[in-house]
Formats: sequence, C-alpha cells, structure tokens
Amino acid sequence: MPEKRFFSYNEIHRTVAELSKVIQASGFDPDVTVAIGTGGFIPARILKTFLKKPILTVGVKLYGDDNTIEGGPSKVQWIDEVERKLKGRKVLLIDEVDDTRTTLAYCLRELLSHQPAEIAVAVLHCKDKPKLDQLPPQVTRYWAGQHLDDIWVVYPWDAVDIDEHSRQAGA
Ligand code: 5GP
Repeated sequence: MPEKRFFSYNEIHRTVAELSKVIQASGFDPDVTVAIGTGGFIPARILKTFLKKPILTVGVKLYGDDNTIEGGPSKVQWIDEVERKLKGRKVLLIDEVDDTRTTLAYCLRELLSHQPAEIAVAVLHCKDKPKLDQLPPQVTRYWAGQHLDDIWVVYPWDAVDIDEHSRQAGA
C-alpha cells in the first residue's frame, strides 16, 4: 500500500486559490471550464469562485468494477451540444489528480476533436511519477496546484467521517 496523505477542505481551497492566481497571471482567460467527474467537480467549483467562468462537466470512469484499468477510460456522461459549446472556445479542463495521466489524455483527445480554440489543464495535484499517457502536443498549458510523490491522496469529499478525516489531515 502506498503512503496515504489526508488533505483538508481548507488546504484544497488554498491550493485552488493559488492555482487561480497562476492561471490569471499566465494571461489564459478561458471561456468555459470542463470538470472531469467526479473528482474534478469540487476543485472546479472552487476555481469558479476565482475565475468566474461557467462549468461544463464530463463523467469518465477509469477503474472498472474489478478495480483494474483494463480497457482504458470510458465515458459515463458527456457534454450535450458539445460542438456548440466547445468549437472555437478556450477551455480549461479541471481534475483533482494527475496520477497515470490516462484520464486527462483521454479527455483531452476527445475534447480536441470538437475544435476548441485552445485547451489548457489545471489539476490540484500531480504525482511526479512515470506517466502511462501523454498530453496531446496541442496542449501547452498545464498547471498543478501541488506536485506530490507517488502517494495515495485522501480527499475530504471521500470521507464518511469528516471529523476523523480532519483529524488525520491535521496530524
Ligand atoms: P489517472 O491515473 O488517469 O491519472 O487518474 C484516474 C483517476 O484515479 C483520478 O482522476 C482519480 O479520480 C483517481 N486517483 C488517482 N490517484 C488517486 C489518489 O491518490 N487519490 C484518489 N482519491 N484518487 C486517485
């Protein structure tokens, strides 16, 4: 089992606030953000507090019922009227963690097929480890709120007992 690290809501909110400053300072001004669900939903919502851009959502499943990634990612839900909403627009794709990079690479390829003007990526956490897939070459802007070793991140939204989670995050 890899080492686990518990993150509190406050830590995540602060990381997103810092991330938003870096994105704004870069000059990238997205028309729309796309949150990859479910892990990207809460980070995307916090980022909206700072960037004030609408959120579209996609649902992507990487792990199957047997907990393996056999067959790769698949769509659980996708954007309605995707052409109208993405074509010619600047898109910021948001997820909580870039682990093997499989999910990000899959979503980026799918979204790029709808001819956005540009797609950039923001994740809360990037694990610094060998990746199983690559960002498409058209994607030149990538921001991670924090770089981590190859640990298992425990997010507060997965907590059944949030007080116990907060205690672990504070430890
Ligand atoms: P990928 O391997 O495609 O980069 O990540 C796939 C998905 O696995 C992520 O979006 C996330 O939902 C989940 N995942 C990967 N690593 C972690 C982790 O350390 N903690 C949690 N909670 N989920 C993770």
